[in-house]
Amino acid sequence: MRTSFAVVLVLSSLALAQTPDWQKVNEETLRHFSALVQLDTTNPPGNETRAVEYVKKVLESEGIPVIIAAKDPARANLIARLKGNGSKKPLMIMGHTDTVRIDASKWTQPPFSAARQGGHIYGRGTVDDKDNLTAAMMTMVLLKRLKVPLDRDVIFVAEAGEEASTAMGIQYLVENHWKEIEAEVCLAEGGSVTRRNGQVRYALIQTAEKLPQAAKLVAHGPAGHGSRPLRSNAILHLSRAIEKIAMWDPPMRLNDTTRYYFEKLATISTPEERARYNALFDPAKAAATREFLAEREPGHYSMLHTSISPNIITAGYQVNVIPSEATATLDIRALPDEDVPAFFEMMRKVINDPSVEVVHERRNQRPVASPSRIDGETFRALEATVQKIYNAPTLPQMSTGATDMAFLRSKGVQCYGIGPMVDEEDAPKGFGAHSDQERILEEALYKFVQFNWESVTALAGSRQPQ
Ligand SMILES: [Zn+2]
Repeated sequence: MRTSFAVVLVLSSLALAQTPDWQKVNEETLRHFSALVQLDTTNPPGNETRAVEYVKKVLESEGIPVIIAAKDPARANLIARLKGNGSKKPLMIMGHTDTVRIDASKWTQPPFSAARQGGHIYGRGTVDDKDNLTAAMMTMVLLKRLKVPLDRDVIFVAEAGEEASTAMGIQYLVENHWKEIEAEVCLAEGGSVTRRNGQVRYALIQTAEKLPQAAKLVAHGPAGHGSRPLRSNAILHLSRAIEKIAMWDPPMRLNDTTRYYFEKLATISTPEERARYNALFDPAKAAATREFLAEREPGHYSMLHTSISPNIITAGYQVNVIPSEATATLDIRALPDEDVPAFFEMMRKVINDPSVEVVHERRNQRPVASPSRIDGETFRALEATVQKIYNAPTLPQMSTGATDMAFLRSKGVQCYGIGPMVDEEDAPKGFGAHSDQERILEEALYKFVQFNWESVTALAGSRQPQ
């Protein structure tokens, strides 16, 4: 026992010698991040190979070999690996190279400029996902440069097509390059560190996500002359069905992630918010609280159950014709453990109209993925790293949207979504991911690289003498 204590002492002094020179790293980070934002990888069409070429050059100049894996040569993925001693199974860190579309007229700074102004860096992809891409790449560079001994391989994946063309990216890699990316744990986009009035409140680490589903409501009725209105008009029946289904409060069901999330959020909220989140657990107050959330905190409301949003309506073709059919398309976001056929049965009961069919639609579907553990050493290590870098508590989060982690979770990989510090006030101003404009706090980028480095060295750094 004494010798191992001595080893720990030697190792911790080694660890000190391996601390990166953050001032220099920040300069390097800014250079790479700006270059990556300046590459237009808007999806569609993607052209992610542009970003892959850049990352390849950076990694190869450090002596890190890369694998290029592409279904379409213009939309390549990159895989790189640093070897560990094999005492633990690999850790994967990833970032996607594509970005969503832009409307150039909405931008005060050109969308691919990486312009720095007032403490922000502007550009499409600055918080989705060239931040994760850069931070993971920098972590690889630093691990290699500082020759950090590893207990497990660290695999870096820069994937294409996260924004609705996963067949080019993660799905392609899982199906065709599984051996090269197989890992026990993965870190990817999906989390964030929330600031309010310039103060860090908490970090969100994504441990679960909802599963996108879709349905069509199809109302049927007799066609007729518009001069003789019918109570059986398909549009009328469809409208009633939409109202019933959109105003329905589906059964609330919390999982480990969302239960812990609301419990912990309550402890760090204002007294008013605290009472509200606690009321979710009180059967006498829960229904009124849910109604409040439906109005005021739709993101929280959606976390409570499988949600339904009517997003497309199609009906009618001429002013004097009563159409015989009317349809609505519903965006359904299922809880990870939802019994989907049973949920559709419930929807039919809620609509309760024999002239309206509820049809399950296919969509670019992600696989069913069980939540990642929040009681294991990985989550605890990330929590400790958040405390160290941000001096803030960590909340596990179930995202209402889907990410590439679904493909990995469905293969048994424990995935955790991480992200940089963002001002809560920024997204409502139109500066979030997928917004009219996008920006990151420059300070947040540097901290995020540090957070990545600390997380990866905590999860993969060797505690055994080499
Ligand atoms: Zn993204």
